[in-house]
Amino acid sequence: MAQLSDDCFAHGGALMPLDDALALLDGKLQPVRDPETLPLARAGGRLLAEDIVAGVDVPPHDNSAVDGYAVFFDDLNADGETRLPVTGRAAAGHPLGRPASSGEAIRIFTGAAMPGGLDTVMMQEDCREDGGHVVLAAGIKRGANRRRAGEDVKQGDTVLRRGRRLKPQDLGLAAAVGRTEVAVYQPLRVAVFSTGDEVREPGQSLPDGAIYDANRYMLIAAVSRLGCPVSDLGILPDDADTIRRALADAAANHDLLLTSGGVSVGDEDHVKAAVEANGSVHFWRLAIKPGRPVAMGQIGSTPIVGLPGNPGAALVTFLLVARPILLRLAGATETAPHRFRVRLDFEYKKKAGRREFVRAMLKTGRDGAPVAVRHGRSGAGILSSLVEADGLLDLGADLTYLESGSTVDFLPFSEVLT
Ligand code: AMP
Ligand code: MG
Repeated sequence: MAQLSDDCFAHGGALMPLDDALALLDGKLQPVRDPETLPLARAGGRLLAEDIVAGVDVPPHDNSAVDGYAVFFDDLNADGETRLPVTGRAAAGHPLGRPASSGEAIRIFTGAAMPGGLDTVMMQEDCREDGGHVVLAAGIKRGANRRRAGEDVKQGDTVLRRGRRLKPQDLGLAAAVGRTEVAVYQPLRVAVFSTGDEVREPGQSLPDGAIYDANRYMLIAAVSRLGCPVSDLGILPDDADTIRRALADAAANHDLLLTSGGVSVGDEDHVKAAVEANGSVHFWRLAIKPGRPVAMGQIGSTPIVGLPGNPGAALVTFLLVARPILLRLAGATETAPHRFRVRLDFEYKKKAGRREFVRAMLKTGRDGAPVAVRHGRSGAGILSSLVEADGLLDLGADLTYLESGSTVDFLPFSEVLT
C-alpha cells in the first residue's frame, strides 16, 4: 500500500480556508491497509477494495412480471377479446422447457422465464378461463409485463466501485451478479488519547481544578461509527516526554493517532514537542469557528491529528478535518457528507473571514419544509448544545449578515456520525 509522503501536512499559510485544507489532503492520502477477502454476509459496512463487475445479466432471462398468460402479441385482436388454448405452464424455476409459438397461451407466474416465441403477458385479473382456453381482454401493449434479461444490470457492467462503504443494497447487488465474496480493506487501526493534567477519568474523584474526560468517549464512539477498531489509550499528562513515548509506541501498531487538548496557541505545546521529537507537526490555523488550531503531523509514516481540547471544538474539527483523513486512509473514495439547504428561523450576524458552524435544531416549517432554529449556546467548550442540536449550519466565510428566512447549508449529525 502507498505510504504518506515525507511531510504530508506541511502548510505555509496563515489562516487556512477549510476547503484548501481538504484539497491539500485529497491528493496525498491513500488507503494504508491491505485488502482482505470476506464472504458477502460479513462484508456489510466495510469499504470495498475492488470494482465489482457483473458476471451475469440481472435478471438472467426474460421473465414475467405478473401471474397470468404469456401470449404472442400478433395473435391478439386489436379491438375485442381473444380466445386461445392454454397449452402449457411456466412457473418460477420451472420453465416451459420447449419453444412456444403463435396460437398458444401459456399459464405463467411471476419470475418464470418467458417461453421462447412469446412476447407479452396478460395479467390473470384481465383473463377468464374457459374450458382449457383463456379469454383475454383487449387493449394490451406488445411486451407488456415482460421483464427483459439484463434490464437491471448487463453482464460486464461495473456495478460497485472501489472505495464504497457497503450498504445492504450493495451486498444484494453483489450477490445478484454472482459474487460470493468481496475484497474489502482491513479496518483502519486508530488510537485515541486525551491530554491534560486536569483531565480525569469519569468515576474517579474530581479534585479542585479537574474536569472529567469527555473527548475520549466522544471520539472513540465517532471513530467506531466509521467502522474502525479503536484503541483507548487513556489520558496523557502535560509532559512532552511522556506524550512522546506514548505516541511513539502507538504509532508502531496503529494507522492513525487522534489526540485532544494541548494544541492551543499559548499552550505549553506538549503535543507539538512530543510529535516533533519523532516526526513532524504543523499547526493548521483553520478559518473556521469553532476550531482553533488543529495539529497535523506524522510519527514515521503514521499520521496524527491533534484536536483542540474544548469538547465543542474537538467534535467539530473531528467531523470537518479528522473524519475525511480517517476515511481516506481507510480506503473510502467518498468523504464529503451530504448537505441540505434549510431556511433560517433567526437572523444572524457574523464576522467575515471565517466559516462558522452554528449548532441548530430542525423543525418543520408551515409549508412542510425544514426550518433551522439556532441553539443559543455555542461556545467551543459547550457540549450540551451539541447533544440537543440536529446538526450544524455552515455559514460561508464572506457572509456577515443573514436575515431570517435565508437559505443556507445544513450538515446533519446523522450524515457524519454514522
Ligand atoms: P486545551 O486545548 O488543552 O488547552 O484545552 C482547552 C479546554 O478544554 C480546557 O478547558 C480543558 O480543560 C478542556 N479539555 C481538554 N481536554 C478535555 C477532555 N478530554 N474532556 C473535557 N474537556 C477537556
Ligand atoms: Mg490541555
